[in-house]
Formats: sequence, C-alpha cells, structure tokens
Amino acid sequence: MNNRRGTSRRDMTLHIHTPYVQSQPYSRQLAKPVWLKMEAAQPSGSFKLRGIGALCEAQRSAGAQRFISSSGGNAGIAVAYCGRKLGVPVSVVVPESTPQRARDLIRQEGAGLVVHGAAWAEAHAFAQSLIGPGDAFVHPFDDPVIWHGHATLVDEMAAAGHKPGAILLAVGGGGLLCGVMEGLQRNGWSNVPVVAVETEGADCFARSIAQGKPVELATISSVATSLGAKRPCDGALEWAAHREIYNVVMSDAQAVKAALRFLDEHRVVVEPACGAALAALDCGHPALKAASSVAVVVCGGATVTAQQLHDLAARFD
Ligand SMILES: *Cc1c(COP(=O)(O)O)cnc(C)c1O
Repeated sequence: MNNRRGTSRRDMTLHIHTPYVQSQPYSRQLAKPVWLKMEAAQPSGSFKLRGIGALCEAQRSAGAQRFISSSGGNAGIAVAYCGRKLGVPVSVVVPESTPQRARDLIRQEGAGLVVHGAAWAEAHAFAQSLIGPGDAFVHPFDDPVIWHGHATLVDEMAAAGHKPGAILLAVGGGGLLCGVMEGLQRNGWSNVPVVAVETEGADCFARSIAQGKPVELATISSVATSLGAKRPCDGALEWAAHREIYNVVMSDAQAVKAALRFLDEHRVVVEPACGAALAALDCGHPALKAASSVAVVVCGGATVTAQQLHDLAARFD
C-alpha cells in the first residue's frame, strides 16, 4: 500500500547521510582497505550535527522556545544551524578567545552571539545564568540524546555493509566516542576494536584511562581546540570500564600535517582535531596492524581554513 514512511516528518533529520568511501591513497599506504566516514560533509561541517540535531529536535518537541549553547566551536555552529532549520532562536555564549571565523559562522546561521569571559568556563557559567523558562541548554557532548544521535553514523556504515576491522576516531569530551560505542553495539559490531585518538595537551581521556579515574587537565595546550575538553564525560569512562578502548596520543604537528595531507588527497579541509585521527592511521598501534581493514571517522570541523593549516604547519617546522 501507500507507504509514507519515507516522507513522514518523523523520519526527517537535521543531519544528512554522509559518504562512506574507500580511500585509495590511505589503502595503498596501509596495504589494506581504509574507509572514510565523511562527517566533514555534514551541513554544519562536523558530526556534531547528528547528536545536537537529535537533541534540538527533542527539545523543540518538548516545547523549547530558545536554545542556549556555550561552545564557540563546532557544537555552537551545529546548534545555530539547528535553530535556523527549526525556527527556534539561539543564543551562543563564547569566550574572547573564540576566533573570528567561528564567531562569523555562528552569526551567519542567524544565532545571537554573546562574547563573555576570557575562557570557556566563564562563557559557560554566563550561558547557564541566562537559562530561563522555555530555554533549553544544549551541551556540546555530555547528553545521552546526543550519543543516540551520533550513533547513526555507525548505522549508516552497517547499512553500507562494510564492517571494518578497527575504527579510529578523535576524542574531546567523549560524545563522539559514546555515540560510536552505542552504534557498534546496536548493530552487533561490538567486537570491532576502537582506537581513541587525542593530541598532546588535550589528552584527558588517555590520562583518565591510564590512571583508572577521571583526570582533569589544568589547561588545554593543543592547537586541536575541538578536542579541548578538560575532562572526559562519565559516559566515555563507563564504556572504557567494560569494553577495551585503545588510546593513542599524537602531536599537534602530526595532526596538522595529516589534515594537510587529507586536503591534498581528498580535497576537503578538516580541523587538526580530525587530523589527529587521520594521523593515527600510521601510528603502528597493534590493534590497527592486526586489523584487516580500518575505518576512520572523518569528524570534520568548520573552524579552520586551509591557510590557517599551512600557517600552523610552518610554525611546527
Ligand atoms: C567536537 C569535536 C570532536 C570531539 O568530539 P567529542 O564528542 O567532544 O569527543 C572532534 N572533532 C571535531 C571536529 C569536533 O568538532
């Protein structure tokens, strides 16, 4: 009969289905198939749209009249995008350290931008103080609804039928990790080894695993600002407690170089945060060596330009 599922309101999402493609250059280099889950192709420029889109839709259905975010990075950009699409006003509070490009991207989505405080903690506290009746605060990574949304990227990989021998992804606060773990589980892929990548100076997850308890970094010194959570969310540590997650820490120089190489090979600009995961492809980790194929979550990121990547690389030379 007339099946309207494909067009019903419920099936529409704010994120898109992204390409899942085999990379010729990386496959040649590793002498095994390397698959790229191209989250850089999301309309907001990163995977964040999956989880934040799910959360904004849920909040909108629950009657939210405004979304509030405290992220000057890809989370703030994603919230601003969702607000425009859903017709819900958005306020994003960012610290003075937020680069002009990120501020512009948020404003171009029609969101209100408030600059407050020297660092994220101050902007975040101010954002919290703004929350009134009818407002929904949208966290950048620590919310189970966000994790359900991120998990859809694994659903798409499973639907494509290419089960990887290992999966590589970047970790900041751990929202992407929680989503990927959930996605692996709900697709019966729990035996796929997961390699979580950070950069030196943003490696709160690796340190937390090594010490067996949450470690909070005093400062973030990495240029991979999208990985700059001071401590991982409890959900990420819970996954690590009952499922082996391998940790790799790359240098900023390696992350930037890998982002530039990705630009040359695949013609897409990604942030150093994403470069970290790409750099780890040839880090020689035993879990990757043992795998018959590898999938990388190309998490993307909209806050750098190609010129800025070149400038960073020159700084490291
Ligand atoms: C947010 C972000 C990350 C880290 O995601 P978490 O959920 O915080 O671990 C990695 N890469 C990019 C491009 C991001 O925007």
